[in-house]
Amino acid sequence: MQQFRNLKEVICHFSDEQKCIDFLVQQRWGGCPVCPYCKSDKWYSIENGKRFKCANKECHKKYSVTVGTIFHASNIPLTIWFPAAYLISAHKKGISSCQLARDLGVTQKTAWFMLHRIRESLRNKESIFLKNVVEVDELYYQTKTRDESISAKDSVYDFKNKSMIVGMIERAGELKLEVSPNMARSNLYSIVHKNIDKAASLMTDGESAYSGIGKGYASHQSVNHRSGEYVRGDVHTNTIEGAFGLFRRTIIGTYHKLSPKHLARYCDEMQYRYNSRKLKDGQRFEVTLNRLESRLSWKQLTQDNGLTAETVIEPHIPSVTIGVPGKKTPIRQMQNGKVIATYPSIVDAEIATGIKKQSISRVLRGRRLSAGGFEWEYL
Ligand SMILES: [Zn+2]
Repeated sequence: MQQFRNLKEVICHFSDEQKCIDFLVQQRWGGCPVCPYCKSDKWYSIENGKRFKCANKECHKKYSVTVGTIFHASNIPLTIWFPAAYLISAHKKGISSCQLARDLGVTQKTAWFMLHRIRESLRNKESIFLKNVVEVDELYYQTKTRDESISAKDSVYDFKNKSMIVGMIERAGELKLEVSPNMARSNLYSIVHKNIDKAASLMTDGESAYSGIGKGYASHQSVNHRSGEYVRGDVHTNTIEGAFGLFRRTIIGTYHKLSPKHLARYCDEMQYRYNSRKLKDGQRFEVTLNRLESRLSWKQLTQDNGLTAETVIEPHIPSVTIGVPGKKTPIRQMQNGKVIATYPSIVDAEIATGIKKQSISRVLRGRRLSAGGFEWEYL
């Protein structure tokens, strides 16, 4: 397959509907259409080459090349779908439906639907199984409106209205994110057991939830963040915390608010982005094109709660758990998702780096993305 280097090449290559159809016939069936109903490879071309008709006498069904793909039964021209798939794959920190709508000249509702369909195709169909040294950590995401009777300070520990995302990462390997239906320890354990090889060594922080997690594993070591310990030899959770850092910045910088109903799909997207972060834009687009065969209908996407595209983008201040403001809380300095240093407080960071504490504080509160060229987070 041709390697696309930029958006211009994609737009030129997929300049009319027939070129897109020819590309898909080649991509999906190696140039020879296969009937999706009876698997016959005998066919006629109908509707000026736009669709096909099965030549098997018992079948004779009509079909198009988009059947069973994310493009299926969509009124959006393929000449828009392909650049959309490129834009979504290429943007390392994701792209919002509003931005995509402006870039492509479609409505926000259409862009939102396209984003979800492409996100569905990015999902890793084969499950990732982690081995060797695996770091485990969890992230809490506020999914319901904060209880006003609880102060901002205490809301950090208000887990009732939050979803738990369990992050597991193999050192120098892949990331796996999974949303837990609730905070129960048994759920955390079953997620870990499902995704991590029993011969692996686990690394976690000192949270009590992890105390018995090493049972059945080669080893389990932890660092106690509460007593100020972050690294002990090769025992640390910096890799998974770096990945969560990227996740938080994508939410703050791009999506602003995630609907809890779609949290798992966003996790799939983050997982894909993290695991493909070393690929070039064109290579990432190629991976996307190879995963076209999945589909998601509007009904599937919006069923259960009468959710519409409009309700998803209502302006909202990001509510990711990011430490206790005002308290002397340790912070970490990061660059491109890698932890560079940790400091006992913002003031100590200012003294050590010369970067203004006000700027660092703004990053910590999610008001801006970086200060002094670094990303900052509460530990
Ligand atoms: Zn057939």
